[in-house]
Amino acid sequence: MTCALCKPTPHEILWQDDFCRVVLLNDTDYPAYCRVELLAHIKEMSDLPPPDRVRMMKTVFAVEVALREMFNPAKINLASLGNKTPHIHWHVIPRFENDKHFPNSHWGEALREGSPAQLNEKTKIALADKISVSLHD
Ligand SMILES: [Zn+2]
Repeated sequence: MTCALCKPTPHEILWQDDFCRVVLLNDTDYPAYCRVELLAHIKEMSDLPPPDRVRMMKTVFAVEVALREMFNPAKINLASLGNKTPHIHWHVIPRFENDKHFPNSHWGEALREGSPAQLNEKTKIALADKISVSLHD
């Protein structure tokens, strides 16, 4: 199996059901960087039946809302690329004016030193709870 997203995730799972999972990437430059990963190996959003497209985006937006409420970022970056890993997944990245790349893409040129950090356990639990609550609103 060559697809990294078809394998069990090495990342911490904040939320999941039988359709997708939300993982925390533990990127020390972006400690609240989450990814929403479809559990099935499907390449494009438009390959999903319309109700599943909605279900996927509902999850992405629940993560966005939870991140906004908890961290008050300057901007949320949403991205779906998958050129290397053609398995539907959405990056949900809270951005701050003092982060390493702002206002560039976090994949772009770094503009300053990062401030490496990690979420503590209490914050991870609070974030997971907020995602769950947001999904049921
Ligand atoms: Zn896959």
